[in-house]
Amino acid sequence: MRSVITGIIASPGIKIGKAYIYRGNNIIIPKYTIDEALIEEEVLRYQAATEKTKRDILDIQEQISKTLSKDMVDIFSSHLMVLDDPIVTEKILTRIRGERRNAEWVINDISLELIKGLGSIEDVYLRERIIDISDINKRLINNLQKTSTESLKDLKEEVIVFATDLTPSDTAIMNKRYVLAFVTDTGGRTSHTAIMARALEIPAIVGSINGTSIVMDGDTVIVDGIHGKVIIDPGADEITEYTTYQEDLVQLEAELAKLTHLPSTTIDNEVIHIYGNIEIPEEMDLLRQHGAQGIGLFRSEFLFLDKALPDEERQFQAYRKVLEYFKPMPVTIRTLDVGGDKIYAYNKQSRERNPFLGCRAIRFSLENESLFRTQLRALLRASEYGNAKLMFPMISTIEEIIKARSIVHETMDDLRREKIPFNREIPIGIMIEVPSAAINADKLTHYADFFSVGTNDLVQYTIAVDRISEKIAYLYNPLNLAVLRLLKSVVEVANSSGTPISICGEMAGEPKYTMLLLGLGFRNFSMGTAFMYQIKRMVRSVKISECEALVDELMQLETTIDIEARLISYLGNKFPMMIF
Ligand code: PEP
Ligand code: MG
Repeated sequence: MRSVITGIIASPGIKIGKAYIYRGNNIIIPKYTIDEALIEEEVLRYQAATEKTKRDILDIQEQISKTLSKDMVDIFSSHLMVLDDPIVTEKILTRIRGERRNAEWVINDISLELIKGLGSIEDVYLRERIIDISDINKRLINNLQKTSTESLKDLKEEVIVFATDLTPSDTAIMNKRYVLAFVTDTGGRTSHTAIMARALEIPAIVGSINGTSIVMDGDTVIVDGIHGKVIIDPGADEITEYTTYQEDLVQLEAELAKLTHLPSTTIDNEVIHIYGNIEIPEEMDLLRQHGAQGIGLFRSEFLFLDKALPDEERQFQAYRKVLEYFKPMPVTIRTLDVGGDKIYAYNKQSRERNPFLGCRAIRFSLENESLFRTQLRALLRASEYGNAKLMFPMISTIEEIIKARSIVHETMDDLRREKIPFNREIPIGIMIEVPSAAINADKLTHYADFFSVGTNDLVQYTIAVDRISEKIAYLYNPLNLAVLRLLKSVVEVANSSGTPISICGEMAGEPKYTMLLLGLGFRNFSMGTAFMYQIKRMVRSVKISECEALVDELMQLETTIDIEARLISYLGNKFPMMIF
């Protein structure tokens, strides 16, 4: 029966294929008592399995180090550390000997204990570690039983993989040739699975909640990684429609790719800049291929995914890599934005009742000053290697920007004293993503060298609607008149004070909003690659005057429904070949 599930787009694209439910984590654990005389043999069996598991992990690391980032390789280093942990080892040996239990049962029991402990923690980062523990558990037990359970490496035909979640090793070893797309019940934008999907360019939907319980092996499914939905058992018409859509997209992509090196200039000669958003450095190539004119938003959260905090050198190397790659184009590096739905290694406030309203982003950095200073040092040092801009997330008061800037200046003084080179003129800007910042934008121009509007959060905070809640998703709409009014006034303030302004929320990367944003006065857009070509084509086929007239008309309306309906009908007439 036809059903539709929705989720978070971890990696864009459309695929149609047969569902394959990956149950890799479900293994059968025997439980038996060991003869007194055979206990040391059981210990040896456990030790041999541990050694074999370590060798397997080293093999995987070697395999993925050629294609994936160091972060991915590091995930497996943490698995090796667990296998070598003397406390864990001692606990396993004591229980095998003391309870005369078989090794797989003891290992599984200890893993379950750990998982149970982690599961009750609200901290998203720690909860993600459950996947690591079950990954190690599965490998060890496989090696003890010398059976190889189901593996994504053994796929023989093209499938769309459904799983509760995928462990780092599942994604690292899977046969990419046969994985058309994947859909996981859990995970957010910054989960391992999402990061891997983007790095491997496999369309993926994460956080589908109950995907695996709705779909059945062999069902025909459409993964729509453009609108964030999965259609199970679609009708023949829908398959035809999506097949055409998919073919159109491929053709359009090839056609539009020709625009890469053409300027993004409107018919009436207004120059528009299109920059890229990146979450992991692996996305750099793709962005450049798509013609990004630099990076408008380099989220630095990816560096903080691991248990251990990244040191100055590691951060420096990561920022430098991106800066050198895009030089002389600009790269706007945003300081850490932890909290909310973000994964992070270090957040003492993880039990906050309202994490989106809590100690997030710049608030966290100002609370954890030494961590902030380390990031600033790394970033300033890297500024010597390209055209860097520094940006603070979630500024909500004037005091915050004053304080953050003073810490930057102190860090600059330190570097000067240590004779470490850096760009002394580095522009320091802020995200405008909280209504208070939008309303006080005129005052903030005194302290910020540039603005970048983050509509993902601005919409959430303006309408008071959790940006990741399914339940109230109908309220989350950037076309709410209040959002449009804020955007309009921020652009006006920025322009009248000569403060450069760009927009980097998801709204900037959706063709549906391009004319609207141009009409509101935005000239600098920062986005992922998904619709970069289409947006460039739209820019090249409109006049600013018509965009302004459209905005005037839309802003006369009152309800979001009316605004949306008018916008869609306008775009439908103007771009009949596009789907909005
Ligand atoms: C935003 O809020 O629009 C934004 C770009 O930041 P993030 O999505 O990382 O919160
Ligand atoms: Mg934000």
